[in-house]
Amino acid sequence: MKRILWFRRDLRVKDNPLLTYEGEVLPIFIFDKEILDLLQSDDRRVNFIYKSVVKLKSDLRSIGLDLKVFYANVEDVFSYLSTFEFDEVVASGDYDEYAKKRDLRVSHKLHFRYIQDTYIFKHNEILKDDGTTYFVFTPFYKKAKIALGSKNIDEIQRVKQTLFSSSYEGLTIVEEDQEISTKELRLENIGFEAKDLEIVSPYEKLEDLVEKLPKYKEDRDFLNLAASSGLSVDLRFGTIGIREILRRVLELENAESFIRQLIFRDYYAYLLFHLPYIEHKNYKYAFNGIEDEEKFRAFCEAKTGVPIVDAGVRELLKSGNMHNRVRMVVASFFTKDLLLPWQWGESFFAKYLLDFDKASNVLSWQWSAGTGVDPQPYFRVFNPYLQSKKFDRDGIYIKKHISELRDLDSKYLHNEEYLLNNKIKDYPKPILKHKEAAKVAIEIFKA
Ligand SMILES: Cc1cc2nc3c(=O)[nH]c(=O)nc-3n(C[C@H](O)[C@H](O)[C@H](O)COP(=O)(O)OP(=O)(O)OC[C@H]3O[C@@H](n4cnc5c(N)ncnc54)[C@H](O)[C@@H]3O)c2cc1C
Repeated sequence: MKRILWFRRDLRVKDNPLLTYEGEVLPIFIFDKEILDLLQSDDRRVNFIYKSVVKLKSDLRSIGLDLKVFYANVEDVFSYLSTFEFDEVVASGDYDEYAKKRDLRVSHKLHFRYIQDTYIFKHNEILKDDGTTYFVFTPFYKKAKIALGSKNIDEIQRVKQTLFSSSYEGLTIVEEDQEISTKELRLENIGFEAKDLEIVSPYEKLEDLVEKLPKYKEDRDFLNLAASSGLSVDLRFGTIGIREILRRVLELENAESFIRQLIFRDYYAYLLFHLPYIEHKNYKYAFNGIEDEEKFRAFCEAKTGVPIVDAGVRELLKSGNMHNRVRMVVASFFTKDLLLPWQWGESFFAKYLLDFDKASNVLSWQWSAGTGVDPQPYFRVFNPYLQSKKFDRDGIYIKKHISELRDLDSKYLHNEEYLLNNKIKDYPKPILKHKEAAKVAIEIFKA
């Protein structure tokens, strides 16, 4: 058999099922022009992917294989490759709308084999006893935990593969008219600037996590404790396998809360698979926010005057990350206090988050908006001041990201009255009064 191994969300050699297909193989990665053309040239995520692809190529070389890296529209690549008589293309499954449509189009040119890698379970592995889908997390979680007990998560063993004869140097550019050219494999050659992006090995993060696990549950919500794993970006791009993580933590004490988060991630992907329309539309309630460009601009520019919200947005813009607790506070403020459409917030996060994952992002935004699958009641609105008082009492996180507030006594960071009535140099007053805004939101949802 002659196969194309399409690396996408599995940018690693270790424990990768793509390397279990015997015979002649052409490992490929595609910098998809259709996606890249929409991004700004300083995109951090593209930098992360680029570095991961360079490492993958080198790791594949060390086991006698290589990686052919394309810069092109996906269909143009497969039109070109379909002339080489491959038997099939093998890739791990991806559930968002763009990916599904793209894969369907490719499958019209070449036999397409989906493999299971990105998530713990296949989309049809955790079902109710009557064979239907779960729409509530707790019973899904219970069933998933039982299934995990008997799941084979042993390390996948590589088999003998021979490399398809081709040129693996540089970046292969395929034009729509099938004209082929080659450039050096550099970020600049796909239209992006190299950024100073520190990449920590996911294996190091995993070992760190083992140390942190005893206090993970207790500490993970506190903004300056760095108590979580930081593995979301690696799970997104498969620079470490989910099975590897499970093998390391499953037998440990105190791993329950962390494993619950991993299962949450699976659950969100499962829901997106079974309810694809929720990528764009509410699962429940007709109300979908009120479009207001001015409020949206204040939010995007971190000028709402609500310290924890602005700090979160600045963290995101600066680093491509945002603490999970802050994501929840920010998304609640966006959808309930500002009453903006959750889709706008989802797109903003999608643009900047290094770990952006369609399923986790959409479902989390719908959870915050109260429009999602979860039984999250619409009247649950986070009070941003109480949240920051609880999880950033000394204002360490807020002051780290908002230099204008560094000299302010920390107790005022959580005091709406003070912020509304006192002028702070270079920092705006709160754009709204939380209690009033929350009341309006609840009334609208109730109606
Ligand atoms: C509005 C909003 C948007 C979000 N968007 C994304 C996104 O685009 N991509 C993304 O990976 N996560 C998203 N999350 C979930 C969560 O914030 C991140 O997964 C987490 O901050 C990553 O940090 P960590 O790796 O240290 O997590 P840990 O606490 O170490 O958790 C381990 C892993 O479990 C998964 N996980 C943790 N929390 C959640 C959760 N609430 N939902 C789903 N999976 C979870 C992640 O893969 C994470 O790496 C979002 C949350 C909110 C509230």
